[in-house]
Amino acid sequence: MKNWAGNITFNAAKIERPTRVEEIQDIVRRADKLRVVGSGHSFNTIADTDGTLITLADMPRAIRVDPTTKTITTGGGITYARILPALAESGLGLATGASLPHITIAGATATSTHGSGDANQNLSAAVSALTFVRADGEIVKLQRGDADFDGAVVNLGALGVVVDITLDTVPAYDIAQTVFTGLPVSTALAEFDAITSSAYSVSMFTRWNSTNVDQLWQKALSATYTPAQHAFGASLAAHALHPIAEFDGTTCTQQGGIAGSWGERIFHFPASATPSAGNELQSEFYVDRKNAVAAFAALYAIQQQFNHTLYVSEIRTMAADTLWMSGAYGRDTVGFHFTWKPDAAAVSTAVDIIEATLAPFEPRPHWAKVFNMAPTVVQSRYPKLAEFKQLANRFDPDGKFRNSYLTKLLF
Ligand SMILES: Cc1cc2nc3c(=O)[nH]c(=O)nc-3n(C[C@H](O)[C@H](O)[C@H](O)COP(=O)(O)OP(=O)(O)OC[C@H]3O[C@@H](n4cnc5c(N)ncnc54)[C@H](O)[C@@H]3O)c2cc1C
Repeated sequence: MKNWAGNITFNAAKIERPTRVEEIQDIVRRADKLRVVGSGHSFNTIADTDGTLITLADMPRAIRVDPTTKTITTGGGITYARILPALAESGLGLATGASLPHITIAGATATSTHGSGDANQNLSAAVSALTFVRADGEIVKLQRGDADFDGAVVNLGALGVVVDITLDTVPAYDIAQTVFTGLPVSTALAEFDAITSSAYSVSMFTRWNSTNVDQLWQKALSATYTPAQHAFGASLAAHALHPIAEFDGTTCTQQGGIAGSWGERIFHFPASATPSAGNELQSEFYVDRKNAVAAFAALYAIQQQFNHTLYVSEIRTMAADTLWMSGAYGRDTVGFHFTWKPDAAAVSTAVDIIEATLAPFEPRPHWAKVFNMAPTVVQSRYPKLAEFKQLANRFDPDGKFRNSYLTKLLF
């Protein structure tokens, strides 16, 4: 079995496809080592195990909307794409979305997957409850407000199998998505805050190969949207654009300022399309928002050293949260993301250069993407790491759910 991009081969001795929670409990009780894989969209070995790999793909697909609490509850193997119709029928939405809805909610939550928007927190912050099958096979439900909750949401797969997950919703909203091209880097640096706050969700895409940021994507709430030919010196795109210049923009969600449902605009790629390039690697580093411009300028200064192996880079913002292992824990955050061509050796060299450049800004790496940072450095970036490890030890005293990635990195 391989990951979605086909560049990580899982080492699992056995793959289990349970169809009932009781079966999951039984598998967990019997296993010495195990891990759950979601939709396999991670770019490192975070989901891997040399024991039993569980996929929840054959579990029931129940989706329950609670009209009183305005929450949606579903199973651990369900993707964002699958809950979109139920949300639409109920007039509800999610505050934010990643670039794609193809990923499982539990898998995205486990790694603090995020979208963009100065006021938008990571996707994990929408989780209000989750139910685990713990290492001893017992079922434990945690909800927001419980002592362990903030440690258990971004769980890196280390606490057990998430069999149920509940998300907060917001009233459904409409978005107008517009793409501009040719944003001068000098303007991006001088007006960074104005740019990232210019719409509900903003992304800057760049190949780091000129004096411009290639594309500025604005996802505006339709109620506040005003059509414009220019934004911050960038010009309105003449046709639909893909973040990767040589790919077909018509495979992306609706652009051109045509307002419509959040669920068809908040992601860059619709569920019906292959997201991004397909055969690729990704890295992402989070810096404290207060260092965003300095970090941006530092990367710009050395762009020639890493741009040859890059498809495209994306710069996004996230509001701080309180989830212990979240990339945005305790700090408003800017993410510098890199979609790489699939040359692992060249990517590793480029990642070394980027990590060295960003080191003064104390970046946190995206848990699910390629990074080389030393474990001690990663550990130093998470003030609640000791508490997280205690929690993992309580849920899983023998480390059944720990794989080589987690053991080397954190334990
Ligand atoms: C094209 C593409 C675009 C992307 N865009 C973004 C983006 O916009 N923003 C961003 O932040 N990231 C992005 N990512 C990264 C992606 O969001 C993460 O890799 C995410 O974790 C993938 O979810 P998954 O369901 O594939 O989980 P997997 O990769 O299968 O697993 C991730 C982790 O979750 C654990 N896990 C999964 N299911 C469960 C469960 N039920 N119980 C317990 N643990 C579980 C696994 O053990 C593993 O540790 C992108 C990836 C791709 C391929």
